Amino acid sequence: MDYGLIGKIEKAKRYAEERERIQFQKFEVTFEGENNDHTVTYDKGEWHCNCDFFQTRGRCSHTMALETILEDMVDIARVG
Ligand SMILES: [Zn+2]
Repeated sequence: MDYGLIGKIEKAKRYAEERERIQFQKFEVTFEGENNDHTVTYDKGEWHCNCDFFQTRGRCSHTMALETILEDMVDIARVG
């Protein structure tokens, strides 16, 4: 029995429910849209998506879906 590891597993379970402890700094995802795949990036609060809608609005269904999934762990896109 590795009691040290057991303690870490318990701590990990607790941490996993405290999402606000985690702040994403940057990431890139491939988002499978209904028609095309899109690339969404996030870098220190700046969102970007290569779909047409994002280019004019600064926000789109892809970034908004990720904001919901990653709630508390990312900044919400600022609409310009
Ligand atoms: Zn998009």
